[in-house]
Amino acid sequence: MSQLRFKVVEEAFDRKAVPVDIPAERPSEYYAKYVFNRAKMYEYLPKSTYDALIYAIENKVPLSREEADAVAAGMKQWAIDNGARHYTHWFHPLTDGTAEKHDGFIEHDGKGGVVEEFSGKLLVQQEPDASSFPNGGIRNTFEARGYSAWDISSPAFILDKTLCIPTIFISYTGESLDYKTPLLRAINAVDKAATGVARYFDDKVKHVISYLGWEQEYFLVDEALYSARPDLAMTGRTLMGHESAKNQQLEDHYFGAIPSRVEAFMLDLEIESHKLGIPVRTRHNEVAPNQFELAPIYEETNLANDHNLLLMSLMSEVARRHNFRVLLHEKPFAGINGSGKHNNWSLGTDTGTMLFAPGKTPQGNLQFITFVANVMAAVHKHNGLLKASIASATNAHRLGANEAPPAIISIFTGSQLADIFERLEKSTDNELIKFGDKEGISVGASQIPEILIDNTDRNRTSPFAFTGNRFEFRAVGSSANCASAMIALNAAVADQLNLFKEKVDARLKNGEQLNHILLDEVRKLIIKSKPIHFDGNGYSDEWKEEAARRGLDCQTCVPKIFDSYLLPESIDMFARTGVFSEVELEARNEVKWEMYTKKVQIEARVLGDLAINHIIPVATRYQSFLVDNLVKLKSLFGAEKSSDIVSQDLSTIEKIAKHMAVIKESVEEMVEARRQANKIKSEREKAIAYHDNVIPHMETIRYHIDKLELMVDNEIWPLPKYRELLFIR
Ligand code: ADP
Ligand code: MG
Repeated sequence: MSQLRFKVVEEAFDRKAVPVDIPAERPSEYYAKYVFNRAKMYEYLPKSTYDALIYAIENKVPLSREEADAVAAGMKQWAIDNGARHYTHWFHPLTDGTAEKHDGFIEHDGKGGVVEEFSGKLLVQQEPDASSFPNGGIRNTFEARGYSAWDISSPAFILDKTLCIPTIFISYTGESLDYKTPLLRAINAVDKAATGVARYFDDKVKHVISYLGWEQEYFLVDEALYSARPDLAMTGRTLMGHESAKNQQLEDHYFGAIPSRVEAFMLDLEIESHKLGIPVRTRHNEVAPNQFELAPIYEETNLANDHNLLLMSLMSEVARRHNFRVLLHEKPFAGINGSGKHNNWSLGTDTGTMLFAPGKTPQGNLQFITFVANVMAAVHKHNGLLKASIASATNAHRLGANEAPPAIISIFTGSQLADIFERLEKSTDNELIKFGDKEGISVGASQIPEILIDNTDRNRTSPFAFTGNRFEFRAVGSSANCASAMIALNAAVADQLNLFKEKVDARLKNGEQLNHILLDEVRKLIIKSKPIHFDGNGYSDEWKEEAARRGLDCQTCVPKIFDSYLLPESIDMFARTGVFSEVELEARNEVKWEMYTKKVQIEARVLGDLAINHIIPVATRYQSFLVDNLVKLKSLFGAEKSSDIVSQDLSTIEKIAKHMAVIKESVEEMVEARRQANKIKSEREKAIAYHDNVIPHMETIRYHIDKLELMVDNEIWPLPKYRELLFIR
């Protein structure tokens, strides 16, 4: 086995950068080449069809059957002109990633041949045989099908000669079976709610747009090394491996020079992304060795999320061209940083105002404070839910470990905003009334007509940070579908804005003055949501105690974190905003618990196999070599004379024996714990059993294997070590 290890290490270290096929045109010329965007629609559709489609997109109304047929004809022509042979509805089921089922464009022509056919019916709606997608019991297999329906707000694109049509995926009874449906509902809810409040400041506002700019972190590992690690290949992370003597302590990787092999991969990925209209712009090394980041220019949330999902599959594909495997797991390696996916989120009006950016006028600042305070209130009220929205079996390894946001949601505001809030809080009603309409927001003694927020005031330990003109939700995991976090956040903020507006409108009816009401209601929100505001060190132990005192959700057991979806305040909030029905919430939690169990179950199986069939035999071999040597030494020097010489070896033999004994025993106990857990009927209880009774054994097994790694002869150790996996040349 060690032969294989040395072979793959050599292969990986000898590898050179793969040349990239760089287009002759400039990026602006090939950008969105494979996207059926407005320019392509205009070119391929009759003018009346084009107008009808744009109208439908902008006003969120359905297309008529005739219009859909005309769109399909144009879209098909464009796709065929660009080399497509198949089409698929592309959707986001509740598993990781995306799903697609490809169909050829061909139809019988009645003369024994075929024609390229694609009708409006096939464009708009399909019935994939979807009984095998997770649905949490909503759609029992006998209860027929779900269907996918075109999301016209997200443009179709061509990937690998297949026309991909972004769709939602719902059951026949209308429940969502995917991420896109509730995301669209949440975006609509926040549009309506925020528009209502934004109109206090500008009555020309018709829509508010939710924006998302994600930052995708990832690891790269050489393909040969990857395939020699069954744990990486099957679970996406290393289940064992002692820390390398050098890892990230010199902090020399962050913003360091990008290795040429990686640079070639990044360039290739950027070109492919640009052809698909994904506006990736930033790339750099991350803190850990072999860790990198990629970020686009932010976009409307639904489109941004489609682009992130598309990018994740693109990354895997392009990585393989460069003999890499991309690891999107939140914690592929113990002891070094994990990967997140910061969700930069903001709201902006169709009139061009960014609602979390301080205004240039006192009135603009009142608007800014109003929206920011409502976000704080929503995040405070639903902090447990927001944590649930980013929780998963894989992200659990990252959160709460001392290099990522803790498993507690809090908001970092920065000192300037904190200062404004403090002054607002202390100001009295009278003072507020004193500063009337024209003067707008001015708090306490000194007036602040213009707030300049300095973007450099940053706190990397916060899971949710205000960063000058947006909020950065940093707790999202690198492998997650951003929709989960974006659904919870947009819905919670929508609900809060609606409640806020109700209060303000009621007081307006009483004849109170608008600015006075706004300031007063904002002040109440700030006071009430104070516990969520924390600018200190989120990694410290004191914060955990403090957060508990403040009543924030401190649950760390992922299956129990999911319970937050079913709290009365969550159910009510989702019902009021129309984002999820209670049935949907219950079904989705079943899926979450089931997925959690399955992920841990797979890891436990792989670990058990590696421990018993890879590690124990090698450790035994080394132990027996030591015993052999010891016996020989004894016979050479005689028992008495040799006792000094062999005492070291004896103790090593004993230690190895002890580690092996614990490993064997723990594997047996782990198998038994699984057997017991599998008997449990309730998905929730089963997931908790896996968390409580299986994972601790996995940790014990790993600990002892990692100890053995340091003792056993390097020549025979079977799996590539961290120092070989990490550090690409
Ligand atoms: P940093 O690492 O400093 O946070 P990056 O450049 O890596 O910044 O990523 C910042 C992300 O935030 C980008 O995707 C960017 O487009 C996005 N972004 C910037 N302004 C906004 C905004 N107002 N709303 C949403 N996203 C934004
Ligand atoms: Mg960043």
